[in-house]
Formats: sequence, C-alpha cells, structure tokens
Amino acid sequence: MKVVKGIYFHIPFCSYKCPYCDFLSFVEPQANHEEYLQLLLKELDLYKDLDFSLKTLYFGGGTPSLIKPKLYEGFIRELSKGIDLSCLEEISLEANPENYSFEDYKQLKDMGFNRISIGAQSLREEGLKALGRLHSVKDTLRAVYNAYRAGFENINIDLIYGYHGQSLRDLEKEIDLLKDLPLTHISLYLLTPYEDTQIGNLYKKGLLKLPDEDTIGDMYQLLVDKLSDMGFLHYEVSNFALEGYECKHNLLYWTHEEFLGLGPSAWSFVKYRRFGNTRNLRLYKERVMKGKKPIQYEEVLEGKEKIYDYIFVVLRTRKGVEKDLLPSLPEDLKEFFEEEEGRLKLNTRGMLLINEILLRLKECILLMNG
Ligand code: SF4
Repeated sequence: MKVVKGIYFHIPFCSYKCPYCDFLSFVEPQANHEEYLQLLLKELDLYKDLDFSLKTLYFGGGTPSLIKPKLYEGFIRELSKGIDLSCLEEISLEANPENYSFEDYKQLKDMGFNRISIGAQSLREEGLKALGRLHSVKDTLRAVYNAYRAGFENINIDLIYGYHGQSLRDLEKEIDLLKDLPLTHISLYLLTPYEDTQIGNLYKKGLLKLPDEDTIGDMYQLLVDKLSDMGFLHYEVSNFALEGYECKHNLLYWTHEEFLGLGPSAWSFVKYRRFGNTRNLRLYKERVMKGKKPIQYEEVLEGKEKIYDYIFVVLRTRKGVEKDLLPSLPEDLKEFFEEEEGRLKLNTRGMLLINEILLRLKECILLMNG
C-alpha cells in the first residue's frame, strides 16, 4: 500500500528577490512567521484521511532561514501531536548563508534537524554579483563551518553554473574550493533565464550573454568528472552526494513515492494524483482558514500514464528504469542511454539534455498509443 513518506513545507519569504529566481517568494519584512507556520499546520489537518509513514520533512523556499529556530521548535512539537514522527530519518532545512549563527544551527540540531542545505549559489564574489546575491563567499564558508561545528554532518550546498561572465576556468576554481569543505552533498543547477525574471528579460532582449551550448556541455562534464574524483556520486541530474548521503526527501520525488507539499505553490503526489497549491498567498490563507484545501492544479494519472510518469521521473536518477519499460528506444535517442544490469539509464550527455530527451520520449509514446 502506498503511504505518504515525506512532507515539504514551503516558506515563501525572502529578504530580497534574486534576479534569476522563479520560485514563489515574497519580500515581506513584516510577515508574521508564527502565523504562517500555524497555517501550514492547519493545511496539514485537511489531510487527516491520508495514511502517513513519515521518513522525511523538508523546509524549502523561499528562505526558511528567515524564521528563527525557536519557531521551528514549536512547529515540530505541534506537528508531533497530530502525526507520528518517530520513524523520521531526515529533517532538512534550506538556509541562506547570511541568516543563521552557530547558536541557531545548534538549536536546529538539538531539535532534530539533521540536514542543512546552504544556498551558496557561487563561490566567487564575481559570481555572486552576477547572480544578484547579497551575501559573500565568506558568509557561505562561515555558514558551512557553523553548521558543521553545531553537529551537522550532512551538509549540502547549492551552486549555480552557466551564469553570464563565468568561464570554464572560473567554474573549475569554484569546484576546487569545495574540496576543503565538510560537505556531503552538492546540488548544481544550470542558470535558466526564466521568463518574468530580471535575468530572463535581459536575456530575451539580448542584453545579457550566457555561455553557449558547447561551453555548457563542457562545464557539465567538468562538474561530473571533478566531483567524481572527489568521491561524490552523480545520483541525479543536478545532484551529487557522498555514498549514503543522497537526499532522502528528494529521492521520494525521483522514485515515485508519495509526498505532500504544503504552503502556496507546493506540489504533492498522492494516490497517483499530482496536485499543486495556488501561488496566491492571500488566496492560500483564505482557503486554509475556511478549512478548504488551497489546490489549484491537479492531474490524475490513469492506466499507462502511471508507468510513463514513473519512467520520466526515475530517468532523472542514475538508477535508471527497468529495460522492459522502454523496450524500443527511438534511434536518435540511443546515444544518450546506457544499459546496465537490465536497466536503462541516461549517460552524462543524456542527463545534460534530459528535458529535450523526455519531450522526445513523450512524443514517441503518444505516437505508439495512437
Ligand atoms: S533564489 Fe532563493 S533567496 Fe533568492 S529570491 Fe529565490 S528563493 Fe529567495
């Protein structure tokens, strides 16, 4: 029987809006964080009918580290009154480098958080400037060591590559800096000039030049090679971990397990149904206060769609999918796959081009099904 194994809590507050970011977040210095956490609990109450066997909690955003640890303590205490947390294996929180002190990390550790994900984005001052970030490389190093000294042995940092002005050599230097840090996990995202972001608009108008396709390909290969030399397993398109430190929460997404997402814009996958909350914070509050689920988007998977959805999600990982599920690969896609022990997985080039490859696979599957 399928059960909900993880909960994602979206914290939609930031102290400024980064020019590349398309996550839902609001700059609201006056936001009442305590009240917001109560709303999340109220929303969870609306899912009493579900079966839970929770392994992971994940606080993402936005900037969860704008909320003081003390408030999370109360939140988790309240949460544990309504739901069994005794089998939790991972409680993860995303922190911006400039927010928490050593004492804050210590408090989080003492209350059971065991994974910290630090939004470093770049380990070059020029990179941080290009990405419009207001923290410094020093802030990131301080945050990593503070978390480590506070007892976190599972620390991730998020980095962005392929931003304007970054060369292959710049990236190489950034990756070399990682060697000396007490990290167990590294997430590396290619800068995407999303529409409706400042960087996206500049790019569209031709006012900003991003590295070309070949350079991006070389950057990705460099990342994979260098991190593999440092002992990191490339276990998902954008994620690398030391053995045993793969993010358990994110693995739920990539293995078709059930999870609940709470907060505006959060997505859930339960009983073969994907549903997403409204992105409108006011509407979200109103609906939850009225005891109504704030769902705005929904897709129910039926029949073969369940298998195809599984394929598209699991192909993101190095595990790949059972070969029988993809018996005849289109000729033009074969070069992006490798076969091992009865499973088909994307090779490094395939991982880089995953979006295009999944689109092409979808087309073929639609054709096959008339
Ligand atoms: S990138 Fe992170 S810190 Fe910046 S606006 Fe987006 S959610 Fe906030």
